[in-house]
Amino acid sequence: MGYDMLEQQEEQRRVSTDIAIKAKALRVCEFHGMAFSGDSFGAAERLSLACQIANSMWSAGKIEAGLFASRRDLTDSIKSAIDDHPATGCTFNDCPND
Ligand SMILES: [Zn+2]
Repeated sequence: MGYDMLEQQEEQRRVSTDIAIKAKALRVCEFHGMAFSGDSFGAAERLSLACQIANSMWSAGKIEAGLFASRRDLTDSIKSAIDDHPATGCTFNDCPND
C-alpha cells in the first residue's frame, strides 16, 4: 500500500503497541507518555489477551490490509513490541509513577 519498508515497520510497531496497551500488556506512564511492560506477573495472560484482541481485529478487518503478512506476523510483532519496552516502569528520572 505504498509504504516504504521503514514506514511499514513503524506502522506495524504503532499498531502492535496500541493492541498491547489495550490488553494492558503495556502500560503508559501518565506523566511521560512512555510505554513499559511492568512486572512479569500475569505477563503470559496479558500477552494471550493481546493476541486474542489482535485476532478479533484481524477477523473484523480492522487491521489494514497488507500491513502484516499474516495473523502470525501480527502476533509476533505484538510479542516483540512488548519485549522491546522496559519491564521496570517509566525510565524517566524522578518519575512520580515509581
Ligand atoms: Zn514517567
